Amino acid sequence: MKHLLVDKYSGPNIKFNVKDVLFGGNEKVFISGPCSVESYEQMDELAYQLSNIGVNMLRGGAFKPRTSPYDFQGLKQEGIKILKSISEKYNMPVVTEIMDIRDLEILLPNIDMLQIGSRNMYNYSLLKEVGKLDVPVLLKRGMSATIQEWMYAAEYIMSEGNEKIVLCERGIRTFETYTRNTLDINAVAVVKNKFRLPIIVDPSHGTGLREIVHSMSLASIAAGADGLIIESHINPDLAISDARQTVDVETVHRIIKSVEKMGW
Ligand code: PEP
Ligand code: MN
Repeated sequence: MKHLLVDKYSGPNIKFNVKDVLFGGNEKVFISGPCSVESYEQMDELAYQLSNIGVNMLRGGAFKPRTSPYDFQGLKQEGIKILKSISEKYNMPVVTEIMDIRDLEILLPNIDMLQIGSRNMYNYSLLKEVGKLDVPVLLKRGMSATIQEWMYAAEYIMSEGNEKIVLCERGIRTFETYTRNTLDINAVAVVKNKFRLPIIVDPSHGTGLREIVHSMSLASIAAGADGLIIESHINPDLAISDARQTVDVETVHRIIKSVEKMGW
């Protein structure tokens, strides 16, 4: 049987750079930032602080996939411009979500990595389109996707030629409702064992609860994750979206120090 491109048997493990941040190497990658880009001042202050504690890359949504159409939908083009200038000011690459192929025109010149969100993991035309580009992709797991479905989503991108993919486990829907999602640590170990792609974990969406983001970060690293993507804010309670799972900079700093102590 022909192996899939994502399978370990198809070639060496995939490593790639986003500017000077290496995914799939020996160093863990730390990505942090707000759920949504809210203003220039918010991103400026946060990026300044994050750049001083060892965070490698910034995150921030400008095109937001919100459950309610009446909730804040993101600053869109203006948010992308903010990300670009903050990225240059602090020399930190940025990742942001793409929801619509038509937004590539504004995204490509301004950002360093495209995030395919959980809701779009099954959007095969979007996957094929980013597969034709030479831009790194952060592919989140669909909230009810099996590991196999998720790997096929990555295969859609890879089979078009783009191998710069980092997988992101962000929790799945189960019968449990105490936490927003159930972070599937098994999936991290499975991916490290069977597949070629690097994988990071999003303990923010994976739990929905800021008080357990630290411990689940460590569990993720223990399972072999290549890095973490954590929602943070200068004033987490005031975050426009996902405040309940958003941590402050001090917490991100403590997580980074704990990971370093683990000796990975
Ligand atoms: C996000 O990263 O802000 C986001 C919307 O994530 P997900 O697609 O995992 O829900
Ligand atoms: Mn969010």
